[in-house]
Amino acid sequence: MAFTRATGKHRRPSRIQRGTARAAGVAALATTGVIGTVAAPAFAAEPAAEQTGLTPVVTLGDTVAQQIDAQAAAQKQAAEEAAAKKKAEEAARERAAEAAKKAKEAAEKAREAKERAAREAERKRLNSFVPPISGSYVSTGYQASSGLWSSGSHTGIDFHAATGTSVHAVGMGEVVEAGWGGSYGNNIVIKMNDGTYTQYGHLSSIGVSVGQKVTPGQQIGLSGATGNVTGPHLHFEARTSPEYGSDMDPVAYLRSHGVNV
Ligand SMILES: [Zn+2]
Repeated sequence: MAFTRATGKHRRPSRIQRGTARAAGVAALATTGVIGTVAAPAFAAEPAAEQTGLTPVVTLGDTVAQQIDAQAAAQKQAAEEAAAKKKAEEAARERAAEAAKKAKEAAEKAREAKERAAREAERKRLNSFVPPISGSYVSTGYQASSGLWSSGSHTGIDFHAATGTSVHAVGMGEVVEAGWGGSYGNNIVIKMNDGTYTQYGHLSSIGVSVGQKVTPGQQIGLSGATGNVTGPHLHFEARTSPEYGSDMDPVAYLRSHGVNV
């Protein structure tokens, strides 16, 4: 018996037969669902969704749209936030500018008020009167009788003052006489701003010259005992003119200008 290959039942299946058998196998596998995990996942996902019976809301396309929507919303929010921030910054700048303007105006007003007050204080000071000797007193009154004076009557008042005491202009005016005045010794006559005159006699030194403007309290010289005197003091007169004999009551004059004598 020869070992010949048998024909018929032992031959390999034809190509067509093999293909048919494989197709049948695939179909059989498909019913189990196993093929889904083996084959392309995309192919498996869609039937799976359909199998749930739910409307396929969540799909790959929707996810992308949502991402775009979310991105757009985020961009819009960022733009709105940036706009709001810019607006807030502008408002803050405006408020700061307004505050700075108000502060500047307030400072300007305060400065003007201060200047006004200073001018007012200076005007008041210039219009005020002071005693010719600070912290002194009248040692010989007006129109007192004495053989010392040629008229026989005192044409001014004497302020107690040691030699070298500071003598002040009693008010604002201009020096019209500064020098030797005979029995008055070294003397100064000032034409006051109100048109009256004041005289300061027996000075040990003169500190001003004719034509010089003086202010209240300004030192014009030092007291002494020059001229017709028995001792150092300041002789003070108030006059209606620069001339001797036009004298008026110096105490009343000073008091009328607010000086306490
Ligand atoms: Zn006198």
